[in-house]
Amino acid sequence: MKIDLDTVATVTYTLSIDGEHVETADKSNPLVFLVGADAMIPGFEGQLIGKSIGDSYDISVEPEDGYGETDPEAIIDLGKEAFMIDGIVQEELLVIGNIINMKDQHGHPLEGLILEVNEDSVKLDFNHQLAGKTLHFTGEVVDVRPATEDEISHGHVHGPGGVQH
Ligand SMILES: [Zn+2]
Repeated sequence: MKIDLDTVATVTYTLSIDGEHVETADKSNPLVFLVGADAMIPGFEGQLIGKSIGDSYDISVEPEDGYGETDPEAIIDLGKEAFMIDGIVQEELLVIGNIINMKDQHGHPLEGLILEVNEDSVKLDFNHQLAGKTLHFTGEVVDVRPATEDEISHGHVHGPGGVQH
């Protein structure tokens, strides 16, 4: 059987960016996903369609099919008062390269990478860390099976590697 919409694919992968290894999921901890449920970036899922168990793959995903281009409007300066806890600026957190967990005005979690620390303000990059990057994936298809009706209606995988309910 081939990977297609409404199948559950199990794959290993190694992600690298500009020749640098980022992460690996091997056969002991593979990636299991419902194809067509928007759980994966489109450039990854789309290029795996048609592959069968045992096939290896070597694909590149451009930013527009991955995590998007870097948005200059997502790089913002915040006054240091945004980092106050009990009236005290948490200076020890404010180090270039640190990632700060914050919330937007709707309460959604955001991660900001500190680019600059100035006297009264901090410049953070709230772009996805993989935005603007070309992603290079290699791996192997470990399993492909039809998704169940429940999986398709829930939009996720049930059982090993998926949601247990
Ligand atoms: Zn479910």
